[in-house]
Amino acid sequence: MDVRVRFAPSPTGYLHVGGLRTALYNYLFAKHNNGKMILRIEDTDRSRYVENAIENLIDSLKWAGIEYDEGPDIGGDYGPYKQSDRLELYKKYAQELLDSSKAYYAFDTSEELTEMRKKNGDIFDPKYKRLEMNNQFTIGLEESKKLINNGVDYVIRLLVPENEEIIFQDIIRGEIKVSTNDIDDQILLKSDGYPTYHLANVVDDYSMKISHVIRGEEWLPSTPKHILLYNSFNWEPPKFAHLPLLLNKDKSKLRKRQGSVAVEDYIQKGYLKDAFVNFIALLGWNPTGDREIYSIKEFIEYFNLEKVNKAGAVFDVQKLDWMNQQYIKLINPEILAEILQISAKKRNFEITNEYSIKLINLFKERIVLVDDIFEVAPYMFTDNFDYDKEYFNKKWNEKTISIISKLLAIYENTDEFSHSNLHNITKEYVENMGKKITDVIHPIRLMITGQSSGASMFETMEILGKDRCMKRFKYFFDEIFIKLCNE
Ligand code: GLU
Repeated sequence: MDVRVRFAPSPTGYLHVGGLRTALYNYLFAKHNNGKMILRIEDTDRSRYVENAIENLIDSLKWAGIEYDEGPDIGGDYGPYKQSDRLELYKKYAQELLDSSKAYYAFDTSEELTEMRKKNGDIFDPKYKRLEMNNQFTIGLEESKKLINNGVDYVIRLLVPENEEIIFQDIIRGEIKVSTNDIDDQILLKSDGYPTYHLANVVDDYSMKISHVIRGEEWLPSTPKHILLYNSFNWEPPKFAHLPLLLNKDKSKLRKRQGSVAVEDYIQKGYLKDAFVNFIALLGWNPTGDREIYSIKEFIEYFNLEKVNKAGAVFDVQKLDWMNQQYIKLINPEILAEILQISAKKRNFEITNEYSIKLINLFKERIVLVDDIFEVAPYMFTDNFDYDKEYFNKKWNEKTISIISKLLAIYENTDEFSHSNLHNITKEYVENMGKKITDVIHPIRLMITGQSSGASMFETMEILGKDRCMKRFKYFFDEIFIKLCNE
């Protein structure tokens, strides 16, 4: 059997991280099986239309490196790939179900439907009471056709048989059984002529020759309805795999309120693509169980739907941060330097590629995101930074001035401003004075960076260069020292 899978998002404005996980698993499954992945846009709910949503979705998928083989922007043999361009097809199939008495016309207004639910004693029980309402069963086919000819609004509902059992296999969850008595006479075609998700989804999966439906667990309750539809059409259903829900740390369902759920937010924040994809791939599955870092190639090689967990997967941003840190240490510094250079430009700092690489190497152990360097070390980009007053009070005393002044003269007279030479001459000087190197490092750090801690001081000085360092020392004594004393 040819493996053909699809990612079928509704364009709601952005790609949800759960959607990315679904897309990624479809992609891994397709690649693992030499199959094809299709992007299909399910845009039949016109009340949820959002401008540019499709473009945003595609941009996020492309960023993550998920390349599909067929889709609205690249075409393919089974298009169109946007449901709003396939309306005639759904109408045709709805008609087929009407003709074979598997579906029927209904004319209830929304007030009547609300009334029905109230009467049933449960406003949340949506089950349609076929024999009590306005439809083909209660008023007859003739009368129904008359109403339609007179322009009365109607929907087409699925005729769900009674007392039958729907049984299907889910690759992740095993056998699932549902009684048809618990399934609603689902609307298939709405009064605006658009199909519901259920009809469009089944018609498309069938006509696009989808072999495996891999989607989130939230769609599991819809699957029995889909099976009923496949049966009504006499079509062989695809295989199903429902992926575990994504949860917050407190095990509640992952929602917008508790943090970002849009992939684009994470792109904006500056997470590295490879780290983010690695993190997403581990939400519900681990290829070998003995480590956390895998290349996309390995994910493809190991991908196995049967090994995906049933239990919900926690979307833990701390773990994502950890993952990004690992990738910062792993990735070629030149790539990170390029990212840093672009970010610097956005902040109106011009830095050379060479300088950027040095910064990456100096700070890569201390950052979660590349852009953290701007927060951790503003002094590497500007001479205009704040000084830690508390630290000044703690570390600076009478004697510091004379010790530091003499040391600065030594720095002034050296031509070799390398970290090793700076270290050696400083060490020699302080030891002659009967002091420790840490006695001078702290005051120097304050003068050069304004901060109480940071990356290796002598390396920092080397990267900043002699000129800049000497200017900062001077500025500190000329302007800042008095200010800090008087504050
Ligand atoms: N349109 C649905 C969504 O927005 C697709 C569900 C499915 O894959 O069947 O996720």
